[in-house]
Amino acid sequence: MTMTPPLPLAFEADDDFIEPARPAARRTRQATVRWGARVVTVGGDAPVRLQSMTNTDTVDAVGTAIQVKALAQAGSELVRITVNTPEAAAAVPYLREQLDRMGIDVPLIGDFHYNGHRLLADHPACAEALSKYRINPGNVGKGDKHDRQFAQMIEIAARHDKPVRIGVNWGSLDAELLAQMMDDNARRAEPQPPQQVMYRALIASALGSARRAEDIGLRGEQIILSCKMSGVQDLVSVYRALARRCDYALHLGLTEAGMATKGTVASTAALALLLQEGIGDTIRVSLTPQPGEPRTQEVVIAAEILQSLGLRAFNPSVTACPGCGRTTSTTFQELAQQIDSHLRTQMPVWKVRYPGVETLKVAVMGCIVNGPGESKHADIGISLPGTGEAPAAPVFIDGEKALTLRGANIAQEFHALVERYIEQRFGGPATVLFDSPPKAS
Ligand code: SF4
Repeated sequence: MTMTPPLPLAFEADDDFIEPARPAARRTRQATVRWGARVVTVGGDAPVRLQSMTNTDTVDAVGTAIQVKALAQAGSELVRITVNTPEAAAAVPYLREQLDRMGIDVPLIGDFHYNGHRLLADHPACAEALSKYRINPGNVGKGDKHDRQFAQMIEIAARHDKPVRIGVNWGSLDAELLAQMMDDNARRAEPQPPQQVMYRALIASALGSARRAEDIGLRGEQIILSCKMSGVQDLVSVYRALARRCDYALHLGLTEAGMATKGTVASTAALALLLQEGIGDTIRVSLTPQPGEPRTQEVVIAAEILQSLGLRAFNPSVTACPGCGRTTSTTFQELAQQIDSHLRTQMPVWKVRYPGVETLKVAVMGCIVNGPGESKHADIGISLPGTGEAPAAPVFIDGEKALTLRGANIAQEFHALVERYIEQRFGGPATVLFDSPPKAS
């Protein structure tokens, strides 16, 4: 008879330390984007910033102002708008004025392609109303016009003291640079695969343009770089290489991520991998909205990515189990959804009234298997009765069982308990939490 060998000890010694995972720190130069008294720093010791882009016609200044306001209120700290025609450039100061009147001081970024040099030169009020310019070196003109028109934009940025993002995109990569690099590669004794040349061309375009901008007079601190691609592994490869080669602040995003689940998952996968390595100082999720879906969804997802990685806290988090054969009713799903949407809806008011409320953790669990354990890890949690369990829902507050809810109004009563917890914990001087619970078991 053979004996099963004993399992090896999991730990060599009692003091074996399991390193907690956390995003790496990477220090870049810090850009400052400002509008009036509002200052948004990007890079350096600043938190990773959220940004978004409108999809309205900028000529429609009122419609664009409404969307910018929605994006800003959803948490976007910078909002980019398209500036593609003289009419759009002329509308920018009016748009800025509308926003200022609404009390929305989010800095605006102008997105320029092909004619940015002319629009900025012909519309100085637009150049002034924008807080930052996005310049795509692949779209600033061909031949000898390229350097001249690029220089014109940089000179205007320097004159108005505006930072720029040099935003390279593989869909509009500088064709002349790529062709030159492909030719050089073909002449090598051992040519690199085309993918390598593409990666190098993206980085060369970004870094070459940044150096040219510095030569023209922009400070390094006024430059943010991006090299966007639509493939997750491509993006990770290029940003890792870019981050090793410079200390400019980096704008991170998966371009043309797509719609719905695909766009959300692909963006999350790409951004999470890089952010965990400390790469990325500002992010945008380029989600194609589904019909009827608000534009703000891209901000919600970007915020969730940063919050899930522990980089920032924007909203209280609701932990909910997925449900299984032990939850044959939808009660717990509905409660989790109600609590989550109530917390999000209240946040614009609560973040002023209850400082720190964004760190709150709520758990809504479906049964006794993981319900009490997960609820104890939350600030306040409820374990609903699964199929066949007694109709009682223990509530845990700060890791301790505080009371049990029963009857038809569990949802409303838990809602009230969460509100009361927030008020007592975040609403001012510390008080005794739940000295008179509404319904104790
Ligand atoms: S906590 Fe209970 S209901 Fe929720 S997934 Fe686990 S076993 Fe299923």
